Amino acid sequence: MPIRTPGARRPLLSRAPVPIFAASVLAAALVCQGPSAAAAPSAGSDTAGDPYFPQDGNGGYRVAHYDLALRIDPESKQVDGTMTITAVATQELGSFNLDFADLGPVRALVNGKPAATAPAEATELVVTPDRPLPNGKPFTATVSYSFNEQEQAAALGKAELPGWVRTSSGGVAKFGEPGGAEYWFPSDNTPDDKASFRLSLAVPEGWVGIGGGRETPAVAKDGWTTSVWDEPNPVAMYLVPLAVDHFDVRRSALPTGQPVVIALNPDRPDYVHDAADRYPEIMAFLQEKLGPYPHSAAGGIFIDPGPGNKNFGGALETQTRPTYVSNWDDPGQEVGVVVHESTHEWYGDSVSVRQWRDICLNECFASYLQWMWEEAKEGEDLDQKYRDHVQEKWDDEEYWGHLLTDMCDGKDECSAGDVMNGQGVYDKGQLALHALRRQIGDKAFGEVLRGWPVRHSFGNASWAEFEQYVRQTAKKDLGGFFRAWFHSGERPADEYLYPGSLAQ
Ligand SMILES: [Zn+2]
Repeated sequence: MPIRTPGARRPLLSRAPVPIFAASVLAAALVCQGPSAAAAPSAGSDTAGDPYFPQDGNGGYRVAHYDLALRIDPESKQVDGTMTITAVATQELGSFNLDFADLGPVRALVNGKPAATAPAEATELVVTPDRPLPNGKPFTATVSYSFNEQEQAAALGKAELPGWVRTSSGGVAKFGEPGGAEYWFPSDNTPDDKASFRLSLAVPEGWVGIGGGRETPAVAKDGWTTSVWDEPNPVAMYLVPLAVDHFDVRRSALPTGQPVVIALNPDRPDYVHDAADRYPEIMAFLQEKLGPYPHSAAGGIFIDPGPGNKNFGGALETQTRPTYVSNWDDPGQEVGVVVHESTHEWYGDSVSVRQWRDICLNECFASYLQWMWEEAKEGEDLDQKYRDHVQEKWDDEEYWGHLLTDMCDGKDECSAGDVMNGQGVYDKGQLALHALRRQIGDKAFGEVLRGWPVRHSFGNASWAEFEQYVRQTAKKDLGGFFRAWFHSGERPADEYLYPGSLAQ
């Protein structure tokens, strides 16, 4: 859904993305020196190489698992964390970066031994172990940190830190795409390096902490309540759910056995509870259209940003448990938002983008499933809805100009708002997928919807790979269709605008 990302505008290519060239040079050096010579240790890259958001992610290692012990006091705003990362070096590593803002003192251990740390520009933490890490070998990095969220936010001149949302009842929640996680914990914050995640969350008694994945019942001790949340499947860091509030928690299970945890702010109006009531119906609908639910747990986190934060709205598909942060005026909108975010559990969470230019794989599908829900549950005539929408936008060059892929190419800078454009992947994307459905027919379209998440389960995929998959499934050459809808800034020609039953 429309996602508000704190601190959205970031410079494009603020520094050169180097990992590909660095790896090539290292490989060449190895060949020249013979197989027995080890490459000299060097610093891991400070970027994962996505040109849209070069500050995100790092090079020189791949993460296998995250284990975070976090203590949050929503009243004093004090945060104490210890993150242990298990990773494998992918080069002879003299130092490496984590994505973590400079929020105060940190202490790092690598393989149990003290390591030097230094903040670098924006949201980078450079960790230098006491000895180089050998290429191909696993290592652990433990980072302990403490900060006061309000003091740090004030230092930035903000009411809240980026990636943080305060709720009407004084709680807090993590919220941001693609950034935000770096103001909560250190990580390799790129969807291209997903890993399992265990969260041990301590909150003062009387508060309720919620995370992602499977829950271990909370234990109270010395005025603190600690719950453990185990996500065994790979998760991107922006999709790790984390919230603390005076939640009313409903627990149940899907018919396929996965535990459901729905956390509701008790201050929310009744219609939010109605949306939660329809969650089983929504999940049954989505499993019929998209195939088996891929995750080990399910549910949702509903929070109210409060009157002091009225402009902050939206929802984010945090893995297994989307986070809904809104003051919706229209009760009817709520169910559609739950359909949208829950669709992302297949399209966006289990299957992640390879790069942010592929975002239509997330948002076009989550938005189109809202149309399919209206068709199935409200008898909406989607062909008529489509024709009306096309007619309304017929002469709107700006609307047709929104690119559904490669949307930032040629721009001097790129923001989350440019990538997740409301008129683009959320709106024109619905038309494009409805036209695709009519172009290849319901049978092939249904096979694509169910087959794609299985093919790339818990991995990454690109838009180019999707086009190839559709061509194979539909057994059609769709080059002209894809160019017209997904690579052009003009209204598609009639043959692609009105395929199949749309021509009538
Ligand atoms: Zn979405």
